[in-house]
Order: sequence, then C-alpha cells, then structure tokens
Amino acid sequence: MSISLANLGGRAQLVVESRLLDVERASGGRLPADPMRAVAEWDRLRDWAAGVRAGDGDALEESRLGPPVPRPSKVFGIGVNYRAHADEAKMPLPKQPMVFTKFPSCLVGPRADVVLSSGYVDWEAELVVVIGRGGRRIAAERALDHVAGYCAGQDVSDRKLQFSDTPAQFSMGKSIDTFGPIGPAIVSLDAFRDPNDLAISCDVDDWRVQDARTNDMIFAVPELIAFLSSLCTLEPGDLIFTGTPSGVGSTRQPRRYLAAGETITTTIEGIGKLVNHCVAGG
Ligand code: ZN
Repeated sequence: MSISLANLGGRAQLVVESRLLDVERASGGRLPADPMRAVAEWDRLRDWAAGVRAGDGDALEESRLGPPVPRPSKVFGIGVNYRAHADEAKMPLPKQPMVFTKFPSCLVGPRADVVLSSGYVDWEAELVVVIGRGGRRIAAERALDHVAGYCAGQDVSDRKLQFSDTPAQFSMGKSIDTFGPIGPAIVSLDAFRDPNDLAISCDVDDWRVQDARTNDMIFAVPELIAFLSSLCTLEPGDLIFTGTPSGVGSTRQPRRYLAAGETITTTIEGIGKLVNHCVAGG
C-alpha cells in the first residue's frame, strides 16, 4: 500500500483520502511528530499506516503545507540529466552525473511564493528523490530500497548569478531563499507502475513550457544513488533533485525568464503539483 507524507506546521501528516492525519497524535506517540524523524522511521511509518483509516483530521489544503522534508542534511542537484535538455543546452552527454548542491535553506512548501532575485530567474521542473534508509556504496540494483519516496520539485535558478563567471556558479544561483519548492507530499514508490518512467511537466501561467517523461534521464535514479553513495554517506531525508527536462527559459530563442505575477505549476504523474507564484524581490 502506498503512503503519502506531508508537513503541516512542522508536524508530519499522513495524507489519507484528502485528509491529514497527524502522525504523532494518531499513533498515540509511537511515531514522531518531526517530519525528519518520521522519514528516518519510514518502515515503521508504513507498517503503522497500513492499518490507518481516514479519520477526522484536517482537510488537505496544500497552501498550508510546508516542505515535506524541511531540514535535510544534503540536497543534491544533478545538472544536464535529460537527453533532450543536453541537446537544447548544446552540452555533450555527461560521462558521470554532474552534481551541485542546493543549500537546504532554499526549501519551501508546495504553494510558497518564489521571490525573484533578478530579471533572469528560470524554471526547472524536477523529480525529487527522498532517501529513507541511508548508506554508503549502495548498489544500483538495491538503490530503490533506500528511497522513502518521491516528491515534485522546482530547481529555480538565477541564470545571471549562475553564469556570472567561468566556471559557473551553480550552487549559489540555485540556493537563493525560496528557490526550492518541494512537495506536495512524499509519495512512496509503490504508488507508481514504473518509478523510472513518470510524466513531468511545467507551466508558466497557461503556457506549457516543459513536457517530458523521466525515462529520458541520462542517469536514472538507481544510478544516481549508486554514484552519490560511492562518495558520500547518504542519510535519511537527503534529497536528490534529479535534473530538468528540456524547455527551460534560458535556452529559448529569445530567452524567457520569470516575471513577478506569473505562476509556475510543476506536475508529476502520481505525485501531484506545485503551484508557486512569483513575486518581486526586495
Ligand atoms: Zn536542475
């Protein structure tokens, strides 16, 4: 049975039939309230959730949700990981995953405002992997066993800062406050017929700018986990932004960036959507 875990006011919530069930209260204190600890106890959470019925919890209002993983120790980003995006960016296919970091302070909830830092802010719809069971040197064949679930993400990027010099300033250009909407909830992998092949799209207002499937990834999720864990110990709650498909604004002719007042909608099959309104930076 698949489960879906959200964050309301810093407390882990099980999503059951469009209602929120507070994990700590509904489990009589046997499971933690802290979303980070709940992810770290994913197997116990799943066992408990299997016997839970929809109750009298709060109605699911996505505008009230925080990021389902609020304080991960690591947020990896993967650059140039879709074949069609490599083509549009005129980049050769990488021989190994191209990794940068998004600092965790950029993470916000599924309906949060994105505060534009310049006139060169771009969209990147992405599948985000949430690590449930940590480890080192995880084999690709067993990698999905280490995943708690997936959520949708926006790897919002200030291209002016990112490409302000040579080599590029990837991590800072993608770590500005509010540049990491994730959610709406962590969805366990058994919700998907094939977790390596999901429809992913991005709309700016009513304009469909990205429309792809995750099976276009150059390095699929198991290979990313094997690569990252060959170098770093993965810990529960670590996030992997797995790269964006083609259709970002900076590779269009003419180039196109986000403006205050526009809304970015990021949709992934089986997960749901993020709806993020752009506001002018202060
Ligand atoms: Zn990205």
